[in-house]
Amino acid sequence: MTNPLRIAIVGAGIGGLAAAALLARDGHSVTLVERFDTPRPLGSGLIVQPVGLGVLDQLGIGDEARRLGAPLTRMLGHSGRRVALDVHYRAHQPGLAMHRAALFHILWRAMLASGSTVLTGQTVRAARASASETCLVIDQGDLGPFDLIVDASGAGSTLSPLKSRPLNYGAVWAHVAWPATDLPKDELRQRYRAASRMAGVLPIGCLPNDPTPRAAVFWSLSQGELDAWPQRDHNDWCTEVSDFWPEMNSFLAPLTDKSQLIPARYSHGALRHPWTGRIAHIGDAAHRASPQLGQGANMALLDALSLALALRLPLDQAPAAHHRARHGHLSLYQTLSAALTPQYQSSSRFLPFLRDHILAPLSRIPPLPRMLTKIVSGDILPPIRGLKWESVGPGPHAD
Ligand SMILES: Cc1cc2nc3c(=O)[nH]c(=O)nc-3n(C[C@H](O)[C@H](O)[C@H](O)COP(=O)(O)OP(=O)(O)OC[C@H]3O[C@@H](n4cnc5c(N)ncnc54)[C@H](O)[C@@H]3O)c2cc1C
Repeated sequence: MTNPLRIAIVGAGIGGLAAAALLARDGHSVTLVERFDTPRPLGSGLIVQPVGLGVLDQLGIGDEARRLGAPLTRMLGHSGRRVALDVHYRAHQPGLAMHRAALFHILWRAMLASGSTVLTGQTVRAARASASETCLVIDQGDLGPFDLIVDASGAGSTLSPLKSRPLNYGAVWAHVAWPATDLPKDELRQRYRAASRMAGVLPIGCLPNDPTPRAAVFWSLSQGELDAWPQRDHNDWCTEVSDFWPEMNSFLAPLTDKSQLIPARYSHGALRHPWTGRIAHIGDAAHRASPQLGQGANMALLDALSLALALRLPLDQAPAAHHRARHGHLSLYQTLSAALTPQYQSSSRFLPFLRDHILAPLSRIPPLPRMLTKIVSGDILPPIRGLKWESVGPGPHAD
Protein backbone atom coordinates (compact mmCIF):
# COMPACT_ATOMS: atom_id res chain seq x y z
CA MET A 1 0.00 0.00 0.00
CA THR A 2 1.35 3.43 -0.96
CA ASN A 3 0.18 6.62 0.80
CA PRO A 4 -3.52 6.63 1.63
CA LEU A 5 -5.33 9.19 -0.51
CA ARG A 6 -8.31 11.47 0.09
CA ILE A 7 -10.71 10.29 -2.63
CA ALA A 8 -14.14 11.67 -3.59
CA ILE A 9 -16.40 9.38 -5.60
CA VAL A 10 -19.29 11.00 -7.47
CA GLY A 11 -22.30 8.70 -7.91
CA ALA A 12 -23.60 5.82 -5.78
CA GLY A 13 -24.42 3.60 -8.76
CA ILE A 14 -22.88 0.24 -9.63
CA GLY A 15 -19.35 1.53 -10.35
CA GLY A 16 -19.28 4.14 -7.58
CA LEU A 17 -20.41 1.76 -4.83
CA ALA A 18 -17.93 -0.94 -5.91
CA ALA A 19 -15.09 1.61 -6.16
CA ALA A 20 -15.92 3.07 -2.71
CA ALA A 21 -15.89 -0.36 -1.07
CA LEU A 22 -12.64 -1.44 -2.77
CA LEU A 23 -10.77 1.84 -2.18
CA ALA A 24 -11.85 2.24 1.46
CA ARG A 25 -10.85 -1.36 2.14
CA ASP A 26 -7.39 -0.49 0.77
CA GLY A 27 -7.07 2.23 3.43
CA HIS A 28 -7.97 5.33 1.42
CA SER A 29 -10.23 7.98 2.93
CA VAL A 30 -13.31 7.78 0.70
CA THR A 31 -16.20 10.27 0.47
CA LEU A 32 -19.09 9.12 -1.75
CA VAL A 33 -21.34 11.92 -3.06
CA GLU A 34 -24.78 11.10 -4.51
CA ARG A 35 -27.44 13.46 -5.86
CA PHE A 36 -30.44 11.48 -4.61
CA ASP A 37 -31.55 11.97 -0.98
CA THR A 38 -32.28 8.27 -0.79
CA PRO A 39 -30.02 6.53 -3.26
CA ARG A 40 -32.05 4.19 -5.45
CA PRO A 41 -31.47 2.07 -8.52
CA LEU A 42 -33.26 3.00 -11.74
CA GLY A 43 -34.52 0.36 -14.15
CA SER A 44 -35.55 -3.24 -13.74
CA GLY A 45 -33.09 -6.02 -14.41
CA LEU A 46 -29.61 -6.63 -15.74
CA ILE A 47 -27.17 -9.48 -16.27
CA VAL A 48 -24.04 -9.69 -14.17
CA GLN A 49 -21.75 -11.67 -16.45
CA PRO A 50 -19.15 -14.08 -15.03
CA VAL A 51 -16.45 -11.34 -15.14
CA GLY A 52 -18.67 -8.99 -13.14
CA LEU A 53 -19.48 -11.75 -10.67
CA GLY A 54 -15.71 -12.17 -10.22
CA VAL A 55 -15.56 -8.55 -8.99
CA LEU A 56 -18.48 -9.16 -6.61
CA ASP A 57 -16.51 -12.17 -5.30
CA GLN A 58 -13.52 -9.86 -4.69
CA LEU A 59 -15.85 -7.69 -2.64
CA GLY A 60 -17.05 -10.74 -0.69
CA ILE A 61 -20.65 -10.36 -1.90
CA GLY A 62 -20.70 -12.85 -4.78
CA ASP A 63 -22.55 -15.54 -2.82
CA GLU A 64 -25.19 -13.06 -1.67
CA ALA A 65 -25.65 -12.04 -5.32
CA ARG A 66 -26.01 -15.71 -6.30
CA ARG A 67 -28.68 -16.16 -3.59
CA LEU A 68 -30.74 -13.24 -4.92
CA GLY A 69 -30.16 -13.54 -8.67
CA ALA A 70 -31.29 -16.06 -11.28
CA PRO A 71 -28.52 -18.16 -12.88
CA LEU A 72 -28.72 -17.93 -16.67
CA THR A 73 -27.66 -20.86 -18.81
CA ARG A 74 -28.58 -19.54 -22.24
CA MET A 75 -29.65 -16.56 -24.37
CA LEU A 76 -32.09 -17.62 -27.07
CA GLY A 77 -33.74 -15.36 -29.66
CA HIS A 78 -36.17 -16.25 -32.46
CA SER A 79 -37.06 -14.40 -35.62
CA GLY A 80 -40.25 -16.10 -36.76
CA ARG A 81 -39.39 -19.80 -36.58
CA ARG A 82 -35.68 -19.21 -37.13
CA VAL A 83 -33.18 -19.21 -34.27
CA ALA A 84 -31.42 -15.86 -34.62
CA LEU A 85 -29.40 -15.95 -31.38
CA ASP A 86 -28.32 -18.94 -29.31
CA VAL A 87 -25.54 -18.54 -26.79
CA HIS A 88 -24.89 -20.99 -23.97
CA TYR A 89 -22.96 -20.11 -20.83
CA ARG A 90 -20.34 -22.52 -19.48
CA ALA A 91 -22.04 -24.96 -17.09
CA HIS A 92 -19.82 -23.87 -14.16
CA GLN A 93 -20.00 -20.13 -14.96
CA PRO A 94 -23.59 -19.09 -15.66
CA GLY A 95 -24.60 -15.48 -16.09
CA LEU A 96 -26.46 -14.02 -13.14
CA ALA A 97 -29.57 -11.99 -13.92
CA MET A 98 -30.55 -9.67 -11.09
CA HIS A 99 -33.08 -7.08 -10.17
CA ARG A 100 -31.19 -3.77 -10.06
CA ALA A 101 -32.48 -3.13 -6.55
CA ALA A 102 -30.96 -6.44 -5.38
CA LEU A 103 -27.54 -5.61 -6.85
CA PHE A 104 -27.76 -2.10 -5.42
CA HIS A 105 -28.69 -3.45 -1.98
CA ILE A 106 -25.63 -5.72 -1.67
CA LEU A 107 -23.22 -3.13 -3.11
CA TRP A 108 -24.60 -0.44 -0.78
CA ARG A 109 -24.05 -2.69 2.26
CA ALA A 110 -20.50 -3.51 1.13
CA MET A 111 -19.80 0.22 0.73
CA LEU A 112 -21.17 1.01 4.23
CA ALA A 113 -19.16 -1.84 5.77
CA SER A 114 -15.97 -0.48 4.17
CA GLY A 115 -16.12 2.70 6.27
CA SER A 116 -16.68 5.13 3.37
CA THR A 117 -18.36 8.42 4.23
CA VAL A 118 -21.61 8.99 2.28
CA LEU A 119 -23.12 12.38 1.44
CA THR A 120 -26.55 12.08 -0.16
CA GLY A 121 -28.77 14.79 -1.64
CA GLN A 122 -25.68 16.55 -3.08
CA THR A 123 -25.54 17.20 -6.81
CA VAL A 124 -22.02 17.72 -8.10
CA ARG A 125 -21.92 20.58 -10.60
CA ALA A 126 -18.20 20.66 -11.47
CA ALA A 127 -14.68 20.05 -10.18
CA ARG A 128 -12.04 22.71 -9.38
CA ALA A 129 -8.41 21.65 -9.49
CA SER A 130 -5.03 23.06 -8.44
CA ALA A 131 -1.67 21.39 -9.15
CA SER A 132 -1.77 19.25 -6.02
CA GLU A 133 -5.42 18.79 -5.08
CA THR A 134 -8.97 19.21 -6.26
CA CYS A 135 -12.45 20.14 -4.96
CA LEU A 136 -16.00 19.26 -5.96
CA VAL A 137 -18.42 22.10 -6.57
CA ILE A 138 -21.81 21.39 -4.99
CA ASP A 139 -24.73 23.78 -4.44
CA GLN A 140 -23.51 24.81 -0.97
CA GLY A 141 -19.98 25.64 -2.24
CA ASP A 142 -16.73 23.69 -2.48
CA LEU A 143 -16.32 20.20 -1.03
CA GLY A 144 -12.80 18.95 -0.39
CA PRO A 145 -9.92 19.17 -0.88
CA PHE A 146 -9.23 15.72 -2.32
CA ASP A 147 -6.19 14.10 -3.92
CA LEU A 148 -8.39 12.38 -6.51
CA ILE A 149 -11.96 12.47 -7.79
CA VAL A 150 -13.55 9.32 -9.20
CA ASP A 151 -16.35 10.23 -11.59
CA ALA A 152 -18.86 7.37 -11.40
CA SER A 153 -21.87 9.55 -12.17
CA GLY A 154 -23.07 7.55 -15.16
CA ALA A 155 -24.32 8.51 -18.59
CA GLY A 156 -25.34 12.04 -17.49
CA SER A 157 -21.95 12.91 -15.94
CA THR A 158 -21.27 16.64 -15.61
CA LEU A 159 -17.55 15.93 -15.08
CA SER A 160 -16.86 13.73 -18.07
CA PRO A 161 -15.78 15.23 -21.41
CA LEU A 162 -17.34 12.23 -23.24
CA LYS A 163 -19.69 13.20 -26.07
CA SER A 164 -21.55 10.02 -26.94
CA ARG A 165 -23.68 9.33 -30.00
CA PRO A 166 -27.39 8.75 -29.29
CA LEU A 167 -28.53 5.38 -30.69
CA ASN A 168 -31.60 5.18 -32.90
CA TYR A 169 -33.36 2.65 -30.70
CA GLY A 170 -34.01 2.33 -26.98
CA ALA A 171 -36.63 0.33 -25.07
CA VAL A 172 -39.24 0.31 -22.35
CA TRP A 173 -38.52 -1.94 -19.38
CA ALA A 174 -40.62 -3.29 -16.52
CA HIS A 175 -40.41 -5.98 -13.87
CA VAL A 176 -43.19 -8.31 -12.79
CA ALA A 177 -43.64 -11.39 -10.59
CA TRP A 178 -42.75 -14.51 -12.61
CA PRO A 179 -46.15 -15.73 -13.88
CA ALA A 180 -47.43 -19.21 -14.80
CA THR A 181 -45.67 -19.72 -18.14
CA ASP A 182 -43.86 -22.35 -20.21
CA LEU A 183 -40.81 -20.08 -20.61
CA PRO A 184 -37.78 -21.44 -18.70
CA LYS A 185 -36.58 -19.64 -15.55
CA ASP A 186 -32.90 -19.88 -16.49
CA GLU A 187 -32.83 -18.40 -20.01
CA LEU A 188 -33.02 -14.94 -21.54
CA ARG A 189 -35.62 -15.24 -24.30
CA GLN A 190 -36.03 -12.69 -27.10
CA ARG A 191 -38.22 -12.45 -30.19
CA TYR A 192 -37.52 -10.25 -33.19
CA ARG A 193 -39.23 -9.00 -36.32
CA ALA A 194 -36.43 -7.79 -38.60
CA ALA A 195 -34.51 -5.43 -36.26
CA SER A 196 -37.28 -2.92 -35.72
CA ARG A 197 -39.23 -5.05 -33.22
CA MET A 198 -37.77 -6.90 -30.25
CA ALA A 199 -39.42 -8.23 -27.10
CA GLY A 200 -37.54 -9.91 -24.27
CA VAL A 201 -38.12 -11.79 -21.04
CA LEU A 202 -35.32 -12.10 -18.49
CA PRO A 203 -35.70 -14.03 -15.20
CA ILE A 204 -34.09 -11.82 -12.52
CA GLY A 205 -34.43 -13.70 -9.23
CA CYS A 206 -35.88 -11.85 -6.27
CA LEU A 207 -35.73 -8.66 -4.24
CA PRO A 208 -33.81 -8.60 -0.93
CA ASN A 209 -36.96 -8.57 1.23
CA ASP A 210 -39.32 -10.50 -1.03
CA PRO A 211 -38.63 -14.09 -2.16
CA THR A 212 -41.09 -13.86 -5.12
CA PRO A 213 -39.19 -14.77 -8.33
CA ARG A 214 -39.41 -11.93 -10.82
CA ALA A 215 -38.92 -11.22 -14.53
CA ALA A 216 -37.72 -8.17 -16.42
CA VAL A 217 -39.59 -7.58 -19.67
CA PHE A 218 -38.54 -5.19 -22.41
CA TRP A 219 -39.83 -3.90 -25.72
CA SER A 220 -37.63 -2.13 -28.24
CA LEU A 221 -38.70 1.32 -29.53
CA SER A 222 -37.20 3.73 -32.05
CA GLN A 223 -36.33 7.29 -30.97
CA GLY A 224 -39.53 8.54 -32.61
CA GLU A 225 -41.61 5.90 -30.79
CA LEU A 226 -39.91 6.82 -27.51
CA ASP A 227 -40.77 10.50 -28.13
CA ALA A 228 -44.40 9.49 -28.70
CA TRP A 229 -44.43 7.04 -25.74
CA PRO A 230 -46.18 9.43 -23.27
CA GLN A 231 -49.17 9.60 -25.65
CA ARG A 232 -49.28 5.87 -26.42
CA ASP A 233 -52.43 4.10 -25.23
CA HIS A 234 -51.49 1.37 -22.73
CA ASN A 235 -54.08 -1.22 -23.85
CA ASP A 236 -53.16 -0.65 -27.47
CA TRP A 237 -49.49 -1.29 -26.59
CA CYS A 238 -50.36 -4.50 -24.67
CA THR A 239 -52.34 -5.77 -27.67
CA GLU A 240 -49.45 -5.06 -30.03
CA VAL A 241 -46.97 -6.92 -27.80
CA SER A 242 -49.17 -9.96 -27.22
CA ASP A 243 -50.00 -10.20 -30.94
CA PHE A 244 -46.27 -10.10 -31.65
CA TRP A 245 -45.35 -12.72 -29.04
CA PRO A 246 -48.31 -14.49 -27.36
CA GLU A 247 -46.03 -15.98 -24.62
CA MET A 248 -45.63 -12.41 -23.28
CA ASN A 249 -49.32 -12.32 -22.36
CA SER A 250 -48.92 -13.65 -18.84
CA PHE A 251 -46.05 -11.17 -18.22
CA LEU A 252 -48.19 -8.26 -19.43
CA ALA A 253 -51.18 -9.05 -17.19
CA PRO A 254 -49.71 -7.32 -14.06
CA LEU A 255 -48.76 -4.24 -16.12
CA THR A 256 -51.98 -2.31 -15.68
CA ASP A 257 -50.51 1.17 -15.91
CA LYS A 258 -47.90 2.76 -18.16
CA SER A 259 -46.07 4.22 -15.18
CA GLN A 260 -44.85 0.64 -14.50
CA LEU A 261 -42.81 0.83 -17.72
CA ILE A 262 -39.52 2.76 -17.73
CA PRO A 263 -38.35 4.22 -21.05
CA ALA A 264 -34.57 3.97 -21.63
CA ARG A 265 -32.51 5.66 -24.34
CA TYR A 266 -29.07 4.34 -25.27
CA SER A 267 -25.91 5.99 -26.54
CA HIS A 268 -22.48 4.87 -27.71
CA GLY A 269 -18.96 6.26 -27.23
CA ALA A 270 -15.83 6.08 -25.08
CA LEU A 271 -13.19 8.44 -23.75
CA ARG A 272 -9.77 7.99 -25.32
CA HIS A 273 -8.23 8.13 -21.85
CA PRO A 274 -10.32 7.59 -18.70
CA TRP A 275 -8.24 9.99 -16.60
CA THR A 276 -8.30 13.78 -16.99
CA GLY A 277 -6.01 15.64 -14.54
CA ARG A 278 -7.05 14.56 -11.04
CA ILE A 279 -10.32 12.97 -12.19
CA ALA A 280 -10.65 9.27 -13.08
CA HIS A 281 -13.84 8.43 -15.00
CA ILE A 282 -15.31 4.94 -14.61
CA GLY A 283 -18.40 3.11 -15.86
CA ASP A 284 -20.88 4.94 -18.08
CA ALA A 285 -19.08 8.24 -17.37
CA ALA A 286 -16.15 6.81 -19.38
CA HIS A 287 -17.87 4.62 -21.99
CA ARG A 288 -21.42 3.93 -23.08
CA ALA A 289 -22.97 1.25 -25.28
CA SER A 290 -26.37 -0.31 -25.92
CA PRO A 291 -27.24 -3.05 -23.40
CA GLN A 292 -27.58 -5.65 -26.20
CA LEU A 293 -24.38 -7.43 -25.11
CA GLY A 294 -25.30 -7.07 -21.41
CA GLN A 295 -21.92 -5.66 -20.40
CA GLY A 296 -22.40 -2.13 -18.96
CA ALA A 297 -22.65 -3.04 -15.29
CA ASN A 298 -19.78 -5.51 -15.69
CA MET A 299 -17.61 -2.84 -17.26
CA ALA A 300 -18.36 -0.48 -14.36
CA LEU A 301 -17.43 -3.22 -11.84
CA LEU A 302 -14.21 -4.07 -13.72
CA ASP A 303 -13.27 -0.38 -13.96
CA ALA A 304 -13.73 -0.04 -10.20
CA LEU A 305 -11.50 -3.04 -9.50
CA SER A 306 -8.84 -1.96 -12.01
CA LEU A 307 -8.78 1.56 -10.54
CA ALA A 308 -8.39 0.23 -6.98
CA LEU A 309 -5.53 -2.05 -8.09
CA ALA A 310 -3.82 0.78 -10.00
CA LEU A 311 -4.04 3.02 -6.92
CA ARG A 312 -1.91 0.52 -5.02
CA LEU A 313 0.89 2.04 -7.15
CA PRO A 314 2.17 5.60 -6.58
CA LEU A 315 -0.49 8.10 -7.72
CA ASP A 316 1.58 9.33 -10.68
CA GLN A 317 1.79 5.77 -12.09
CA ALA A 318 -1.86 4.87 -11.54
CA PRO A 319 -3.44 6.55 -14.63
CA ALA A 320 -1.22 4.70 -17.10
CA ALA A 321 -1.57 1.39 -15.23
CA HIS A 322 -5.37 1.64 -15.15
CA HIS A 323 -5.55 2.65 -18.82
CA ARG A 324 -3.30 -0.26 -19.88
CA ALA A 325 -5.32 -2.66 -17.74
CA ARG A 326 -8.70 -1.84 -19.25
CA HIS A 327 -8.02 -0.39 -22.71
CA GLY A 328 -7.95 -3.56 -24.86
CA HIS A 329 -10.97 -5.18 -23.23
CA LEU A 330 -13.05 -2.00 -23.36
CA SER A 331 -12.14 -1.24 -26.98
CA LEU A 332 -13.07 -4.73 -28.10
CA TYR A 333 -16.47 -4.64 -26.39
CA GLN A 334 -17.23 -1.14 -27.72
CA THR A 335 -16.45 -2.41 -31.24
CA LEU A 336 -18.53 -5.57 -30.81
CA SER A 337 -21.45 -3.57 -29.46
CA ALA A 338 -21.30 -1.11 -32.37
CA ALA A 339 -21.23 -4.00 -34.86
CA LEU A 340 -23.91 -6.20 -33.26
CA THR A 341 -26.50 -3.73 -31.96
CA PRO A 342 -27.87 -2.71 -35.41
CA GLN A 343 -28.59 -6.39 -36.15
CA TYR A 344 -31.11 -6.32 -33.29
CA GLN A 345 -32.15 -2.67 -33.06
CA SER A 346 -32.28 -0.68 -36.28
CA SER A 347 -34.51 0.00 -39.25
CA SER A 348 -32.17 -1.93 -41.57
CA ARG A 349 -33.74 -4.81 -43.52
CA PHE A 350 -30.39 -6.14 -44.72
CA LEU A 351 -28.71 -6.62 -41.30
CA PRO A 352 -31.44 -8.80 -39.77
CA PHE A 353 -31.54 -10.84 -43.00
CA LEU A 354 -27.80 -11.37 -42.68
CA ARG A 355 -28.28 -12.25 -38.97
CA ASP A 356 -31.02 -14.83 -39.60
CA HIS A 357 -29.78 -16.46 -42.83
CA ILE A 358 -25.99 -16.30 -42.60
CA LEU A 359 -24.58 -15.28 -39.22
CA ALA A 360 -26.89 -17.41 -37.02
CA PRO A 361 -26.27 -20.66 -38.99
CA LEU A 362 -22.51 -19.86 -39.08
CA SER A 363 -22.46 -19.25 -35.34
CA ARG A 364 -23.37 -22.91 -34.74
CA ILE A 365 -20.14 -24.13 -36.39
CA PRO A 366 -17.22 -24.74 -33.96
CA PRO A 367 -15.28 -22.88 -32.63
CA LEU A 368 -17.82 -20.04 -32.90
CA PRO A 369 -20.19 -21.27 -30.13
CA ARG A 370 -17.26 -21.23 -27.67
CA MET A 371 -16.20 -17.79 -28.85
CA LEU A 372 -19.73 -16.44 -28.39
CA THR A 373 -19.79 -17.88 -24.87
CA LYS A 374 -16.54 -16.05 -24.11
CA ILE A 375 -17.80 -12.79 -25.62
CA VAL A 376 -20.99 -12.85 -23.57
CA SER A 377 -19.20 -14.00 -20.40
CA GLY A 378 -16.91 -10.98 -20.76
CA ASP A 379 -13.61 -12.86 -20.91
CA ILE A 380 -12.71 -13.14 -24.59
CA LEU A 381 -9.75 -10.93 -23.56
CA PRO A 382 -8.27 -10.58 -20.06
CA PRO A 383 -10.58 -7.94 -18.53
CA ILE A 384 -7.85 -6.43 -16.35
CA ARG A 385 -4.41 -6.74 -17.89
CA GLY A 386 -1.17 -6.54 -15.95
CA LEU A 387 -2.53 -5.78 -12.47
CA LYS A 388 -2.45 -8.64 -10.01
CA TRP A 389 -4.98 -9.54 -7.38
CA GLU A 390 -5.87 -12.53 -5.27
CA SER A 391 -8.70 -14.22 -7.13
CA VAL A 392 -11.27 -15.63 -4.71
CA GLY A 393 -13.99 -16.70 -7.11
CA PRO A 394 -14.39 -18.08 -10.63
CA GLY A 395 -14.03 -14.56 -12.01
CA PRO A 396 -11.47 -12.75 -14.17
CA HIS A 397 -7.99 -14.22 -13.96
CA ALA A 398 -4.99 -12.10 -12.99
CA ASP A 399 -2.42 -11.87 -15.79
C1 LIG B 1 -32.39 -0.56 -19.86
C2 LIG B 1 -30.97 -0.95 -19.56
C3 LIG B 1 -30.61 -2.29 -19.46
C4 LIG B 1 -29.30 -2.65 -19.14
N1 LIG B 1 -28.95 -3.98 -19.04
C5 LIG B 1 -27.69 -4.32 -18.69
C6 LIG B 1 -27.29 -5.70 -18.53
O1 LIG B 1 -28.08 -6.63 -18.73
N2 LIG B 1 -26.03 -5.96 -18.11
C7 LIG B 1 -25.14 -4.96 -17.86
O2 LIG B 1 -23.99 -5.26 -17.47
N3 LIG B 1 -25.46 -3.66 -18.03
C8 LIG B 1 -26.71 -3.30 -18.44
N4 LIG B 1 -27.05 -2.00 -18.60
C9 LIG B 1 -26.03 -0.97 -18.42
C10 LIG B 1 -25.79 -0.63 -16.96
O3 LIG B 1 -27.01 -0.38 -16.27
C11 LIG B 1 -24.90 0.60 -16.85
O4 LIG B 1 -23.81 0.46 -17.72
C12 LIG B 1 -24.38 0.74 -15.40
O5 LIG B 1 -25.46 1.02 -14.52
C13 LIG B 1 -23.35 1.86 -15.32
O6 LIG B 1 -22.96 2.01 -13.96
P1 LIG B 1 -22.38 3.38 -13.44
O7 LIG B 1 -21.97 3.14 -12.03
O8 LIG B 1 -21.38 3.89 -14.41
O9 LIG B 1 -23.59 4.42 -13.51
P2 LIG B 1 -25.01 4.38 -12.80
O10 LIG B 1 -25.31 3.01 -12.29
O11 LIG B 1 -25.93 5.02 -13.77
O12 LIG B 1 -24.84 5.32 -11.51
C14 LIG B 1 -24.63 6.71 -11.60
C15 LIG B 1 -24.94 7.33 -10.24
O13 LIG B 1 -24.48 8.68 -10.23
C16 LIG B 1 -25.45 9.53 -9.67
N5 LIG B 1 -25.24 10.88 -10.22
C17 LIG B 1 -25.40 11.26 -11.51
N6 LIG B 1 -25.07 12.56 -11.67
C18 LIG B 1 -24.69 13.01 -10.44
C19 LIG B 1 -24.21 14.27 -9.97
N7 LIG B 1 -24.07 15.33 -10.79
N8 LIG B 1 -23.91 14.40 -8.65
C20 LIG B 1 -24.05 13.34 -7.80
N9 LIG B 1 -24.49 12.12 -8.21
C21 LIG B 1 -24.79 11.95 -9.51
C22 LIG B 1 -26.76 8.89 -10.11
O14 LIG B 1 -27.86 9.29 -9.29
C23 LIG B 1 -26.44 7.40 -9.94
O15 LIG B 1 -26.69 6.94 -8.61
C24 LIG B 1 -28.34 -1.63 -18.95
C25 LIG B 1 -28.70 -0.27 -19.06
C26 LIG B 1 -30.01 0.07 -19.36
C27 LIG B 1 -30.39 1.54 -19.49
